[in-house]
Amino acid sequence: MAQTLDLGSRVELVSMDPHFDDISIALYSPEDSGPPCYQVHTYSRLPGVTERVAGVGHAMQVLGGIEQTSDGPLSFSCGHAHQLAVKRLFLEACKLPPEQPIEPRPLHIFDKKANATIAIDSLGQGLYEARATEQVRGVERRVATIARGLIRLGEMDEIADQPNQVRFGCGEAHDALIGLLLIRAPNVRAAMREAESMASRGVLSAPSSQE
Ligand SMILES: [Zn+2]
Repeated sequence: MAQTLDLGSRVELVSMDPHFDDISIALYSPEDSGPPCYQVHTYSRLPGVTERVAGVGHAMQVLGGIEQTSDGPLSFSCGHAHQLAVKRLFLEACKLPPEQPIEPRPLHIFDKKANATIAIDSLGQGLYEARATEQVRGVERRVATIARGLIRLGEMDEIADQPNQVRFGCGEAHDALIGLLLIRAPNVRAAMREAESMASRGVLSAPSSQE
């Protein structure tokens, strides 16, 4: 099978897919004249690999609200890249067991450090606000920490004098993406470490080395 696809640059890598024979699976950003887009790809030719790649793409759509036209690349309707958030989206999509149903994550999370639930409200035009659902000691600091986590993980903008508010630079709502980033927002450093280890377990094999 010839590689006719122009994959562009590699955005993220899972060097050993835990749910498919430890294959390397990667996310690329095909360079096109259109808006930024992404393509899940593997050089593996194992039987069933096409379905696995399609499954990861599907999980990215459900979990992150990224869209796909037929079998084409994935992109956001706002036309922005949101590349850091997409890296996280890809990693989370690869981690999910393919046999389980995939649902978007809720816009709230139980924060162990605060011992309270922290919710994110969409205020429109890409603006979101974190808030505690109950007032317990120290929870406001955790709310601000989680807002900062979203800024780091999603390349979101901070809002002057509003430590609990964050905004997507595109000015559009991405609720599913916020729900996904929220899982890691309480501990950004652990999220960064995890991304490194998922990429470095082995190396992506070029097609020639798998003949
Ligand atoms: Zn956007």
